[in-house]
Parts: sequence; structure tokens; C-alpha cells
Amino acid sequence: MPELPDVDVYIEHIAARTVGHPLERVRLASPFVLRTADPPLAAASGRKVVGVSRLGKRIVIGLGDGRSAELYLVIHLMVAGRFKWKPAGAPIPGKLGLAAFDFDSGTLILTEASTKKRASIHLVRAGGLAALDPGGVEVLGSKLDAFAARLRSENHTLKRALTDPRLFSGIGNAYSDEILHHARMSPVKLTSRISDDEIERLHASIHVVLEEWTDRLRAEAGDFPEKVTAFRPEMAVHGKYGKPCPRCAKPVQRIRYASNESNYCPTCQTEGKLLADRSLSRLMRGDWPKTLEELEAKMTQGRAAAAPTGSFAARAASFIPNRPPPPPQTPRAESPPRATPPKKKARPPAKRPAR
Ligand SMILES: [Zn+2]
Repeated sequence: MPELPDVDVYIEHIAARTVGHPLERVRLASPFVLRTADPPLAAASGRKVVGVSRLGKRIVIGLGDGRSAELYLVIHLMVAGRFKWKPAGAPIPGKLGLAAFDFDSGTLILTEASTKKRASIHLVRAGGLAALDPGGVEVLGSKLDAFAARLRSENHTLKRALTDPRLFSGIGNAYSDEILHHARMSPVKLTSRISDDEIERLHASIHVVLEEWTDRLRAEAGDFPEKVTAFRPEMAVHGKYGKPCPRCAKPVQRIRYASNESNYCPTCQTEGKLLADRSLSRLMRGDWPKTLEELEAKMTQGRAAAAPTGSFAARAASFIPNRPPPPPQTPRAESPPRATPPKKKARPPAKRPAR
């Protein structure tokens, strides 16, 4: 899913090409991509682009009379949505194309390379924007105390907190992995246990990572950002399972859930401990979580069941030690009795004393 750095670079390019230009019309390849009926899509035509901005991970194109916006096109790319900039009037590509926004300066095409069509367009009046805003704090430019207050407002793992759009804006799976690695912090550390110093480090790392990546993507974009992906060779840990950590050269590890995975470096982030899939699997009896939320809930349940809250054992359960897995347990009836030494000769079984 395009996150803040990708979305911001898209916005810069779209704004450079469209602000001040009238949107001549919107063409839809499928009516389902448009999720609103009122105001009608035709109401957008003929209005000038006043500004392009970001709302969470959404792109907002403000349309009006040239000075102030009256209507807003809100586009959510979800996982596989992408933009292309083409000459004016370009056709919508057959398989992937969802919509085309025609300007005199060119055509902005929305595509989605997935069979699951999840990208969306909303057309709303100013009052409709709030309903599309998940409410997360914009971390870039946020003050440390505001960031700390939001981080501590709910007790979650750091991974979950950073990627929760209600808490923080624009950070997803890829950049949260990179931020936590930069800050040398465990993805499963609980926000209720984070110190002031750690919060300061995390806040600084968010700025470093997001700004560095926005600069890099801006430099790479050239004419228009065409290669928007969550997996980039320069990333430290995200998408780098098994590859060497750029800081310590030890292999990057992962936490898997059904459709996704988080990556981290045990040496740099978890005091060398693996957040092992195997042990989580035991807690879950093979029932893999589908989302990070589910993973977190199951870990919390597992910890609560395993040890009293707040004990050393409960805290230690945050990490699964890096050691070989226990041998598989087989039902007792099939196990050889441990105390009996192997018999040298085959003898008829001794009669049990009668009761
Ligand atoms: Zn490392």
C-alpha cells in the first residue's frame, strides 16, 4: 500500500500538472470504483484544481472556482492502486484501468493491479471530508509531546500503533518496519511500557526515515512516479527476510500473518530474540491470524493465559527465546516408558502381581 513518502511524491507531481487547470471530465472504467452518488460525478467537471493534498493515505484533489475548493475528489489507492500521467485523452488501459481524469494538460489515470478491486474514489463537499479522515496525527511536524500522548493513548504493540490510521497518519507496514529498525525497537514492545527516552528516539526515527524516503523517491521519480512499490532494494528490513541487516549483517527475521509479514532484525531490535512463528503457532493451535490486529489480540491472550499480568514471565513472554524448538509431543500411550532401560534380551512380559 502506498504510504506517506509515495503518496506525498504522487501529490507533488499531480499538483504540478493540474493546479489551476480545469478538470474537463472523469471517465470511469467501472462504476464500482466511485463510492458516492451525491454530489454527482458530473458536478466535478469544469471546476479548476485548487490544490492537491493528503488525508491519511488518501489523495485529495480540491476543485472549485479557482480560489477555494467546493468539491473534493478523494482517491484511496489501497494496496495495488497506482497513478499514471498520460497525454490528454489517453484511453483507460483495458485490464488494470479504473478511471481517467482529463485535464487540458494531460490525463491522470488510476489503475489497480489486483483482482480484488479495492481502490476507491469519493466525491464530497467540504463537510464530507471528515468522514473520510481516519483521524491519525500527522507525525511529520508533530511535537514530541503530542506524539507521546497519542502513542500512549491506547495500549498496543508498537507495530500496531504506528500502522493504526486512527493514531498516526500515512504509516503502513513497510515504513513501520523501517522506522522500528532505525529506532532499534521491537515491533511487539507495548506502548504502555515505553519510556520517555524511547518515545523521543522513535519520534526522531520517524522523521529521519520518512523524510529520507520522501527525498529518495522524489529524486527517483523523474517525470512521474511510475515505480511505486512497498519493496525497495534500499530498505533495511522490510521485505528482506533472510537477507543481512545493513547495520549488523545478521539475517532479517519476520512475523507472518495470513496476507502480510513484518520484518525486523533480532540483533538490533529484540536483544537477539526471535519473535518466532512456531511459538505463536502453538498459542494459536495452528490458527494463523489474518491481520496484525488479530495477531496482537492472540499474543495478548496467550500472555494472559501463560502467566500473571506484570510478572517477569509475562514480560518475558513478549519475546520467544532464540532456541531450538521442543520435540513434538506425542500421545503418552505411544511413548516408550522413559525410566525403563532398554532390555538386552527379548523376554516374555513379566506377569503383573494380581491385586
Ligand atoms: Zn541488525
